[in-house]
Amino acid sequence: MTTSNNELWNSPKQSEWLKLLLASHDWYWEIDIKGKINNSAGPLPELLGLNNENLIADNFITKLDEGARSKFQAALNTAINEQSNFAIDVFEREVENGDNVFTNLNAIAVLGADNNVVGYCGLEKNISKFINQKNFALEETKKKSLFLAKMSHEIRTPMNGIIGTTELLKDTDLNRDQKELLSIIDVSANNLFSIINDILDISKLESGNIELENEAFNIYNLVDDVIKMLGGRIGKTDVSLKTDIDPKIPEILYGDELRLKQILINFVNNGIKFTKKGSVTIIIKILEDKKHALQLKIEVVDTGIGISKEGLKRLFKKFSQVDSSMYRKFGGTGLGLMISKKLTELMKGKVGVKSEVGKGSVFWIEVEFLKTKIKNKLNINSDMSESGSSSRQLKVLVAEDNVINQKVAMINLRQLGHNVEIANNGKMAFEMFKSSSYDIVLMDIQMPVMDGIEAAIAIRNHEEENNLKQTPIVAITANAQKEDKDRCFEVGMNGFITKPFRPDDLVRILNF
Ligand code: ADP
Repeated sequence: MTTSNNELWNSPKQSEWLKLLLASHDWYWEIDIKGKINNSAGPLPELLGLNNENLIADNFITKLDEGARSKFQAALNTAINEQSNFAIDVFEREVENGDNVFTNLNAIAVLGADNNVVGYCGLEKNISKFINQKNFALEETKKKSLFLAKMSHEIRTPMNGIIGTTELLKDTDLNRDQKELLSIIDVSANNLFSIINDILDISKLESGNIELENEAFNIYNLVDDVIKMLGGRIGKTDVSLKTDIDPKIPEILYGDELRLKQILINFVNNGIKFTKKGSVTIIIKILEDKKHALQLKIEVVDTGIGISKEGLKRLFKKFSQVDSSMYRKFGGTGLGLMISKKLTELMKGKVGVKSEVGKGSVFWIEVEFLKTKIKNKLNINSDMSESGSSSRQLKVLVAEDNVINQKVAMINLRQLGHNVEIANNGKMAFEMFKSSSYDIVLMDIQMPVMDGIEAAIAIRNHEEENNLKQTPIVAITANAQKEDKDRCFEVGMNGFITKPFRPDDLVRILNF
């Protein structure tokens, strides 16, 4: 909307309006299209080191610092071109003392006799307090998230010791009571582990620290894995796990398999948890078949207790459970759905739920996966496991500084029938590597004297200088972030397992 003259300013209510303006933290100005100031009122100029009276006939644009000037000029030019009003939601100005003042700027066009825009009258509201509070809160969230990420990482190392020794204890002679106690440790440790993983994920997502992979994966295998993994845990005879996948979906798609799996595990796990009788079904349909990508809708449909309308509003938020009394009954942290939502959004997809109390729920995501390859990275799962036999005895070099973890790795590997030698740090590992030959090196990353990355570089250089065939090096580390993984591959390692690892992971890695 434009105004043919400065009606508001010149109205009989002017004095009330002026009082109101003076009581605010704002600035009212009038300029012509070149920026010449015709009128200026309000307390904000003083804060900016300006004086209302001196401002008249001065130029508005020259009073702005460089960043603000280009932003303002661009908005003004566009508005003049389009003969329209303009606004800048957050207008940042630098003040001489180095502080920043943030305003919310709204300007309406003033029309001349020929109905052309001859100037603008604007109101700038000082929103510095609000913006500073928001920035402070964001900064705090970031700090908190980084702290949580660091803590979770620290907790992973001892968790590796607990989970590893528990697995080993299971294979020893125990009486019934001891077995029962051990299974409590086992369940508790695994629960704790999944909570730590959830917290680590949330903090990474909140601090913007997650990057997605874009690797080949087989969606049918992925669904099979989820069914196998959770089917075993179901423990209910009246609930069946089913799948219904459109056969037109190709076997190989490109995307972040682990993250998709994480979302699916969360949905299916919940489905099982909240369904007494009936089924939990994974349905995958094609929404759109594009040239290079496939848009899929993945639904997890259960015939469980369902969720009320009120309950639905609380879903996908941090620590939110529909009914806190259910926590006691079913356990859980209330983090899973929020992680799933954030991950889906990171994949530029959508997430949602439909539910009816007593009938069941449908949790769904819509995501796009590429049909063709963008880049390929040497991947231990595919590149190493495809070649060769699985049961040969290997000579394994384990570089690990933590004594408990050394023990866990040693016992696990010996039980698998392999020969193990331990190095207490990267330097020792490198020395041992030079004086002997190994089939594989399992390399911790954070170690004193020489860390795993440096040791891997040294090994690769040594191999190159001496024309030796590359020995597989697999990182075993509590650093679960993508950058850490990328770094390992960059320096020539061939695989990556995060702690706490399970005997299965070792079997998988050693099956090459
Ligand atoms: P958690 O399951 O660890 O509590 P989630 O974020 O995965 O955390 O789920 C949050 C809550 O949403 C659950 O506690 C439950 O109240 C509700 N919910 C999730 N999935 C279902 C489902 N399939 N049926 C009924 N309620 C569900």
